Amino acid sequence: MPADSPSLLLIAALFIAAAAGWLFGRYRSGAGASQSNPTANRLSEEYFRGLSFLLDEEPDKALEVFLRMVDVDNDTVETHFALGNLYRRRGEVERAIRVHENIMARPSLRDEHRVHAMFALGEDYFRAGLFDRAERLFLQLAAGGSRHVPALRYLLRIYEQQRDWEQAIATHRRLVAVASPEHPTAIAHYHCELAEQMRAKGDFEGARQQLHLARDVQRNFPRGALIRADIALDMNQPELAALLCQRTVELHPKLLTLALPRVMRAMRDTDARAIERRFQSWMRPDPVARAELAYAAIVAGLEREPFVRECLPDLLREDSTLGEIVSATSGDPAQLSPEQRTALATALGRVLRRTQRYRCVDCGFASAAHFWQCPGCRSWDAFAPVALLDLTPGMQRR
Ligand SMILES: [Zn+2]
Repeated sequence: MPADSPSLLLIAALFIAAAAGWLFGRYRSGAGASQSNPTANRLSEEYFRGLSFLLDEEPDKALEVFLRMVDVDNDTVETHFALGNLYRRRGEVERAIRVHENIMARPSLRDEHRVHAMFALGEDYFRAGLFDRAERLFLQLAAGGSRHVPALRYLLRIYEQQRDWEQAIATHRRLVAVASPEHPTAIAHYHCELAEQMRAKGDFEGARQQLHLARDVQRNFPRGALIRADIALDMNQPELAALLCQRTVELHPKLLTLALPRVMRAMRDTDARAIERRFQSWMRPDPVARAELAYAAIVAGLEREPFVRECLPDLLREDSTLGEIVSATSGDPAQLSPEQRTALATALGRVLRRTQRYRCVDCGFASAAHFWQCPGCRSWDAFAPVALLDLTPGMQRR
């Protein structure tokens, strides 16, 4: 069945609605009677007409038939919900909105159906990008009742889209009080977003307060530590910045590509031997660590740093395919001259920075840039670096 054809479920629902109308007519007129109830017959005729328009892929004509129906009541409303859902799933949000507004306009509906219609309409508005209207409906639903938890989840998505972090924080707190949030670390990110806005305006004190709040809800939060390192660099405290970066990498090795440029800046800002000693400790004799350091530096645009020349042979050894390419063209990777190493690192940098190096573990969205929140599925902390060039599947970055 093609994806855009009417779903079997809806066809079944419409068929049952039409058949029920017909049976109702038979029942009301007495078993075996030749005359059926004319109202019920007209209803079933309308459903069959709407159904055939849907099957003929004439959604506008089908919509007009269903909107004209006068019998949207507690018995037939589910069929109309199914129709609205179908339209939304096919991306025909305007039609879905008309169906759900039509349901809402019926005064005789039970409360549960009215709440269902409000929620469905909120989903339509959200899907259409009409966030103000969606927010109004979800705020009403979030005040209490059967849909208040999913309404809070939608409000959170709206505030994230609008980058309204204050409202996102308040809504996350309301959600945590009644249910487990989809992304427990999200609230720490909201505080970090505010901290970054404040830092950009030079309000370091406000930014630090937000980072304290982030730490209160999430211990050892790497994004918070990196922003604190940025503030330390802004305030000419390079040693503190380097210390924060080192701790971040120790706890979260895969964030080396984000921490390394900050450490380099800290080293440029001061000639303190302490930072250099700390950095030297990263260049442990462990070849895997040295390969990762070279990889992270090249990705971060630091391929001309002297330590990259030093660590490059380790990278070529760890990624055997890359090592074989170099061996085939230039001989033993360990014997490359410093100029050859720099040229190779520069060329690798050009390739790597165009490559999709990060992939969301939840939805598979891939990107050359790092995101704390996946642009594909809106998951937080789901972006992980992928293997170098993907040439050697065995070499997974930590
Ligand atoms: Zn994703």
